Amino acid sequence: MTQVLGLDLLRAEVAGRVIDESDPDYETARSVWHGAVDRRPALIVRCTGPADVAAAIAFGRQRGLEISVRGGGHSPWGVSIAEGGLVIDLSELWAVSVSPGTRRAWCGGGATLADLDAATQRHGLAVPTGLISDIGAGGLTLGGGSGWLSHYAGLTVDNLLAAEVVTADGDTLRVSADDHPDLFWALRGGGGNFGVVTGFEFRLHKVGPLVHLGLFFWAPENGPAALRLGRDVLASLPRAAGWQLLAGVTAPPAAFVPVQYHGTSGYMLVVVGFGSAEEYARLAERIRAGLPPLFEFSSPLPYTDLQQMFDGLGPSGTYAYEKNLYLEQLSDDVITSLADHLPDRSSPTSFIRLLGLGGAIADVADGDTAFSGSRSSRLMLGMVSLAPDTESYAAGQAWARSSWQALRVHTSGSRQYINFMFDYDDEEDVRASYGPEKYQRLARIKAHYDPENIFHLNANITPDGRLSPGSS
Ligand SMILES: Cc1cc2nc3c(=O)[nH]c(=O)nc-3n(C[C@H](O)[C@H](O)[C@H](O)COP(=O)(O)OP(=O)(O)OC[C@H]3O[C@@H](n4cnc5c(N)ncnc54)[C@H](O)[C@@H]3O)c2cc1C
Repeated sequence: MTQVLGLDLLRAEVAGRVIDESDPDYETARSVWHGAVDRRPALIVRCTGPADVAAAIAFGRQRGLEISVRGGGHSPWGVSIAEGGLVIDLSELWAVSVSPGTRRAWCGGGATLADLDAATQRHGLAVPTGLISDIGAGGLTLGGGSGWLSHYAGLTVDNLLAAEVVTADGDTLRVSADDHPDLFWALRGGGGNFGVVTGFEFRLHKVGPLVHLGLFFWAPENGPAALRLGRDVLASLPRAAGWQLLAGVTAPPAAFVPVQYHGTSGYMLVVVGFGSAEEYARLAERIRAGLPPLFEFSSPLPYTDLQQMFDGLGPSGTYAYEKNLYLEQLSDDVITSLADHLPDRSSPTSFIRLLGLGGAIADVADGDTAFSGSRSSRLMLGMVSLAPDTESYAAGQAWARSSWQALRVHTSGSRQYINFMFDYDDEEDVRASYGPEKYQRLARIKAHYDPENIFHLNANITPDGRLSPGSS
């Protein structure tokens, strides 16, 4: 058991709970989403506001403890838990308040996407966020934030208006386009490098409460044709719609899948219409006419249900790995390559995910935010492996890496989306994801706000912009 001296002082200073190994809640408090992560921090401080965060940072620094920041616990490598260190746990900061008149929401730095959606949908409003509802709004936003609404209303960061940030020195700053604009730029994609965000202010959009969902499923032999159809649909996708294609996915034993197809592997195009029922009906008809699916599920559904639809795909404890890359377009060569690599996948829970970009994402100039990915590309490809145990985990990683290598020849850049980057510790990958210009700008801002790199358990931007010794 790691002994930390002076815990009573910290307990007297903060309003939130300080959890150490003797606490009955320690095991739950240190657990995160990824099944392979099993770290034992010395302390977990459940902060109730900026003053607690500042006190926790100061305490950790004085005692030389490594500091991590935990929002929703979904980081791919569990970097929100510092082994033997101090965790700033933001889960108490989950409250969301909405101003329907001005279409703005104030969201606590530890709220989940489910908290945010529940509060905003009470007013028929929403922030574009991600695809799994128990992700932390904090980690997702700071990395960019992409999901069903991105084509219609942009990335999460494109809708960020202001933030409350506690810096490494313990100062609480209000950050916006007018206040600390350099930091505001860096927060919109630069990850958790610059401080602890205790609150976010978002612009809201009118969404739902009912939206239109369509799932279209084809057998593997129709994969290339399904991909070509998906490409055509994406090329003329209505602005108020979302698009995603899962190649090599297994049809779940769910009510919307005819029983004879449960467990069948194939290609699934998922479209979501946020506009009128007529607009969705035209889109669905084009898909059916283009290539009749093996089965289809089309239905209006509440937006909050859409946001939870994929929650079962990767439950807590999953051994997950992913490599992502951006594509200008889904060329015939890429389609052939995708179809070639799918049969090699290690398990029925490995698949290739194609996320449709464009629309509102491409309305924002690349340099306007620190977002790591590509805004001009039409697609993001993810080689995803979700495994139940360590053995299949290793095989899944090997498959994802080799498919990624093979598909890389079709992309012109080396950008990756840091939110989907599982090799966090690969500094070269982090730099390449931002590109040299953005990375150097981020490094200058890092040097100003966190010169000692206190917040380094993330896709790390080093304050001097150099690689760590031995990492190249
Ligand atoms: C199953 C799954 C599905 C996903 N789907 C999507 C998706 O659809 N779209 C998408 O964009 N991303 C997606 N992601 C990626 C996800 O957004 C990132 O992993 C994100 O970092 C998770 O945030 P968190 O708060 O839950 O994680 P945590 O592990 O709690 O935090 C991750 C890191 O974020 C930083 N951080 C978190 N909160 C704060 C804060 N308030 N202030 C400062 N730093 C903070 C810290 O550096 C921390 O180490 C998915 C991840 C998983 C595992």
